Amino acid sequence: DPVDRAPAIVVGSGYGGAVAAARLGQAGIRTLVLEMGRLWNTPGPDGTVFCSTRAPDQRSMWFRTRTEAPLATFLWLDVVNRDISPYPGVLDRVHFDAVSVYVGRGVGGGSLVNGGMAVTPPKAYFAEQFPGVDADEMYGTYFPRARAALGVNTVDPAWFEATEWYRYTRVSREHARRTGLRTTFVPNVYDFVHMAREAAGTATRSALAGEVVYGNNHGKRSLDKTYLAAALGTGNVTLHTLERVRAISRARDGTYVLTADRVDLTGRVVETREYGCTYLFLGGGSLGTTELLLRARETGALPDLDASVGAGWGTNGNVMLGRANHLWDTVGENQSTMPVMGIDDWANASNPVFAEIAPLPTGLEHWVSLYLAITKNPERASFSYSGGSMRLGWTAAQSAVSAAMARKLFDRINAANSTIYRYDLFGSSSRAFADDFTYHPLGGCVLGKATDAFGRVKGYPRLYVTDGSLVPGSIGVNPFVTITALAERTMARVLAEDTAP
Ligand code: FAD
Repeated sequence: DPVDRAPAIVVGSGYGGAVAAARLGQAGIRTLVLEMGRLWNTPGPDGTVFCSTRAPDQRSMWFRTRTEAPLATFLWLDVVNRDISPYPGVLDRVHFDAVSVYVGRGVGGGSLVNGGMAVTPPKAYFAEQFPGVDADEMYGTYFPRARAALGVNTVDPAWFEATEWYRYTRVSREHARRTGLRTTFVPNVYDFVHMAREAAGTATRSALAGEVVYGNNHGKRSLDKTYLAAALGTGNVTLHTLERVRAISRARDGTYVLTADRVDLTGRVVETREYGCTYLFLGGGSLGTTELLLRARETGALPDLDASVGAGWGTNGNVMLGRANHLWDTVGENQSTMPVMGIDDWANASNPVFAEIAPLPTGLEHWVSLYLAITKNPERASFSYSGGSMRLGWTAAQSAVSAAMARKLFDRINAANSTIYRYDLFGSSSRAFADDFTYHPLGGCVLGKATDAFGRVKGYPRLYVTDGSLVPGSIGVNPFVTITALAERTMARVLAEDTAP
């Protein structure tokens, strides 16, 4: 018999999991959240909760002996990464054969490590990706609901134009303008009032101190401060940390049984527990949720899962690149880590790209304009399962499609500004495009394929997917607002139809 029973269990505490937990708790349903990462609320010996990107320690990465930062080198020198001791740090880089995937680990999932960009996709592209979803209802109800609960705000344009901290963004905007390209402000969940106070010297610096991928000590409205705080505030939600769900099965009475390993701070499994629930919500993210369902299907624990579980995965077309500016075109030694602008060429039917203007906060003038391009790469891959672990069929040739699309856009920008690419940022000596990692893993349990149109898993009643695995590989912008809004839509439907007594 399972040790612990709860009416509802949520696996993972990222966007999908946090929305599920909050709405279940508010509906009066006792809910247990199981999260494999730690709770980030206690300061380390240096007095801060998260370590800095400039001097990373064990808190930076998930059980590593050396950090694996996205920008590995600078002037070809391995100056960025550091030796660390294994610990449940906040950023993980999951390696597959041809691509690696960055994800957040901890209470709040990706919201702890991400750039906070809170972008709503163009309605036409959303409708193209989700033909089975009522787009009017999404844009009228669920996107606004998600943005409000996430605490989305925008930079004051007058402050943006004047501050040294966004000079790098203004320089890239000017280069785009010379190319005849459109730029657009993008909202963020970082509190811009706090940021202005950081600049004025009246608040402790976080975004203005280089903090981002290893966590922000101030200013960012991560999920632990929004949805998860609301969930715990209902008194109906309990949170277990450092517990990784490894298997899901179904009892004879139709309830679900979960097997979870609890680890200590060295990663040793100290206890294996079984949990039981009537309603099971999977919010482990594209990788976490897909692995659980794939394992359940392939081991025969949940044999009726749809054949499409594991399919429809993509990188959201992610590519990172840097351009080398002229000496007179300084980007500034002071750079805010929270991006606020993108080059929007998505409407260009022959080569749709949305490129966010990214910071490179080294504290020194480096003349680099950095970008994270989101390209409309049509390539998709599937996961397979063998020997207890999951493999991803994504190939280097599929990443090259993203790089070629980014090159097409940035060749134009370089031509218009007589500039070139930077080749010293991504490890080897000749790489201008980092297409071997993604920040935006999407798909694996696609909405309307592995699930019904509302995230109900096909073949298994009262089992739901609420996270990025529902998105079919691409959404054209940074994904968390879409993931949150879809989870809101799922929870509204489930609470209205499935959980009523
Ligand atoms: P996650 O947020 O990944 O949450 C999943 C959670 O489940 C994690 O906490 C994980 O530890 C836990 N988990 C997984 N498996 C298990 C298991 N078996 N048992 C227990 N717990 C489990 N998106 C944007 O929109 N804007 C940005 O600016 C942006 N910047 C980014 C920058 C970086 C460095 C990264 C890595 C990502 C960025 N993203 C951004 C992407 C965004 O963070 C993700 O799309 C989002 O977090 C995905 O939400 P999710 O709910 O699907 O899963």
